[in-house]
Amino acid sequence: MSDNYENDMGKRPFSARRFVSRPKICAFCSDKNIVINYKEVDMLRRYVTEDGKIRPRRQTGTCARHQRALASAIKRSRQVALLPFTGESLGDALRHQ
Ligand SMILES: [Zn+2]
Repeated sequence: MSDNYENDMGKRPFSARRFVSRPKICAFCSDKNIVINYKEVDMLRRYVTEDGKIRPRRQTGTCARHQRALASAIKRSRQVALLPFTGESLGDALRHQ
């Protein structure tokens, strides 16, 4: 009976949750050519979820400074209907108008 101790080696499922391969460094710091502009929808899309929410920094690796710039660009982009609102911020936006 040598098969009793199969606990550690045998079954260790690499718990691959939903791993978003995130860059460790801010994409905008590392590449100066990327301009954060509300009209760059293709670029902004990478920083919002399917719901249209802004992705948290821990997912995107964006630094604080660029995250702010990104957030305002995304919000501006919503105002001109280039990006969708989430349900929550839609109510907010309507209230402001
Ligand atoms: Zn940055």
